[in-house]
Amino acid sequence: MAPKTLLVHIPAGPAPNIGNIFLMPVGILALADLLSRNGYPARVLHLGVERLSRPDFDLESYLEQEKIDVLCADLHWHYQSRAVMNTIKEIKGKAGDIITVLGGFTASFFAEEIMGQHPEVDFVIKGDGEVPLLDLLGQISSGGEDLSDIPNLVWRKDGKVISNSHTYKVSQEVIDSLTYSNFDLLEHAKIYTRLVNPLQNYLEQPCQQLNCYSCEEECSGIFYYNCGRGCPTRCSFCGGSIDAQRIINNRTEPIFISHRRVISELKALGRYNISGWYTCFDPYPQGDYYPELFRRIRQEGIRLNCWFECWGLPTRKFIDDFAATFGPESEAILSVESGSERVRAKNKGFQFTNDELLEALAYQHSKGLRKHIYFAVGLPFEGEEELKETFDLINRLKITYGEDIDIEVSMISYEPGSPIFLDNEKYGVTPKGNSFEDFCDCGTLEKIIGYRTELFSEEEIIEKTRLIRSAVICPRVEEMEMDFRRFADFDYCPVCPYLDECSMGQEKEYFPFM
Ligand code: SF4
Ligand code: SF4
Repeated sequence: MAPKTLLVHIPAGPAPNIGNIFLMPVGILALADLLSRNGYPARVLHLGVERLSRPDFDLESYLEQEKIDVLCADLHWHYQSRAVMNTIKEIKGKAGDIITVLGGFTASFFAEEIMGQHPEVDFVIKGDGEVPLLDLLGQISSGGEDLSDIPNLVWRKDGKVISNSHTYKVSQEVIDSLTYSNFDLLEHAKIYTRLVNPLQNYLEQPCQQLNCYSCEEECSGIFYYNCGRGCPTRCSFCGGSIDAQRIINNRTEPIFISHRRVISELKALGRYNISGWYTCFDPYPQGDYYPELFRRIRQEGIRLNCWFECWGLPTRKFIDDFAATFGPESEAILSVESGSERVRAKNKGFQFTNDELLEALAYQHSKGLRKHIYFAVGLPFEGEEELKETFDLINRLKITYGEDIDIEVSMISYEPGSPIFLDNEKYGVTPKGNSFEDFCDCGTLEKIIGYRTELFSEEEIIEKTRLIRSAVICPRVEEMEMDFRRFADFDYCPVCPYLDECSMGQEKEYFPFM
């Protein structure tokens, strides 16, 4: 009989926020759909959503009740590592005959180490998983024992860890046949697609009034979906850059999903009352793929808001088509990383100057688009001077765009397979550890980001992030003609003359942490 499979997403912690990796990898629904279409019954379950919507939810009882034979868990982002391993161990301890499979970037990168040290994991599939998972289920259903022909599979034979050839990567034909929007396969899909909606910001602030976890109101959801896989460049901090793509996915260049297929995914969203699309796949920022796709979306009469994470600066043609295609809440989000051009050039794959950035923002503004921009702190080669440049650029943007720009500041984290991981010395980075076990501890108070740079310790990076965030949040920083040093030296809120009338200062939003 065909084995019954559950694909499960295990967030890093109980609360629904981004730091807890509440978002599922986009491919998990596509895999479940592929299995179902090939005769292997499959469902997707988000453990965080289940626990929020049913506080007494018990995964083991669910597996028993649904008679699940194979449990596939994504271990994509390294912050999930401890939670995933604990859950798998617990399940395997109670239901020993269930077959456990891991996939995703982190599991792929550490496949041999995981298989060597965690007997509760039966298999790891490295990189793209479509054909390897189908082959594995085929062998399980036929009782076959020789798994050596299944590409990308890491398994055990007579107690020894075997790594099969890493030869499978998704082809144009396969990627154009996948369906990422079959939400019928996801338990509590309606709640999940609402919780991850950036417009309603449920991740930060769950909708109390509507009691989102159990409500039946018709608020709309969001679809996280990328039009392809891979990256042709190298950002110092990114575990999905060109080198990691080669190691993890055996991929040397990006692959795009055909326009026809993307259109059909977006058209399907109406069935689920999903009105927003969030996407982060932009390997050729100067290319024609998106302007042409946007033209076809308009032609088809598809109405959506879109949040598009740009990997470089968007062209004017891109912005023209983007603004003409999507709804008023849409944003083309820019990752600037640093106000210092020198630091940006040393860390970011796609390069641009501050003047080019300001010109791109002005053009977005002229088209009536909201502006949204990301900075990072803790970059290699960044010192006090460069942080001051970031502080100054943020203030300039606040003065120019006021309420019409969202500015976010985050710490970078030390990702497996990133350029700084692969070459600590080149980037002047000292990690707290490079093994899978080390990454299992990431996110704890002792190891929030997992590295120090030549110029800043981990504690200093956290402190500098807090300061730069304060510059974003403080409503009066430019009015007080505050410069970075004064702001930093005074740790300003406690001595600020406006403290009595400032809700930011009083509510301690001045002290955000992660
Ligand atoms: S952050 Fe940089 S390296 Fe990573 S996917 Fe984006 S462009 Fe590529
Ligand atoms: S109390 Fe803090 S956040 Fe508010 S105006 Fe003063 S420095 Fe800015």
